[in-house]
Amino acid sequence: MKVLVAVKRVVDYNVKIRVKADQTGVDLANVKMSMNPFDEIAIEEALRLREAGTATEVIALSVGPQAAQETIRTALAMGADRGILIKTDQEVEPLGVAKLMKAVISEEAPDLVIVGKQAIDDDSNQTGQMLAALLGWAQGTFASAVNLEGGTAKVTREIDGGLQTLDLKMPIVVTTDLRLNEPRYASLPNIMKAKKKPIDEKTPEELGVDIAPRLTTLKVVAPEKRQAGVMVESVAELVDKLKNEAGVI
Ligand code: AMP
Repeated sequence: MKVLVAVKRVVDYNVKIRVKADQTGVDLANVKMSMNPFDEIAIEEALRLREAGTATEVIALSVGPQAAQETIRTALAMGADRGILIKTDQEVEPLGVAKLMKAVISEEAPDLVIVGKQAIDDDSNQTGQMLAALLGWAQGTFASAVNLEGGTAKVTREIDGGLQTLDLKMPIVVTTDLRLNEPRYASLPNIMKAKKKPIDEKTPEELGVDIAPRLTTLKVVAPEKRQAGVMVESVAELVDKLKNEAGVI
């Protein structure tokens, strides 16, 4: 069974984001980029399936500029078998990514596709759902456990106030939640080995996919700065401030 995993190159989660002065987006100059954290979880889950003998091959796919190859290399260093880079310098919206993935899936025929529940840069939470719809496949979103048995999958989902377990007929799309697993670090020998693993390069044109944007960003603004806190002398003063200044009680 082949597993295809999508890995997006995003601004590292430790970076303090700066909004560009013209409010058109986020400043990416000299900013550390890393694999989207939910995609690390997706790779980890695929590797565990291969180690358990359920999966035979793990393919890491990324859509982005040449530099997205580094993200694929990270996936290969974690243990993925090979990579596919769909190269474009254009910003690709979730629908475009889903269409590109569908085109690759028609060539590769995986039984399981794992993507993150959301990319921490655009916070769209759309790609997995759109991909499942385009393919006509079942989907298990926000997965906190995945168990494959024969041609079906039991996917446990984190929902408001509890857990829901679905029985899905393969092939399926799974999107990962934070508690699915704890991703491994790539060891130095595996980083060296990853340099020799193959990465296939394709373009949206070769795949016959139109990635023209459908959305226009009107503006991006930084959150308002928080005001400094004040020390209060007593509980009575606190209650008074909450009531008469903050108006929250
Ligand atoms: P989003 O719908 O943008 O929040 O992204 C959800 C998931 O889709 C991510 O965690 C990735 O697994 C996948 N994804 C989105 N954009 C890309 C991309 N450019 N390259 C690879 N995977 C992507």
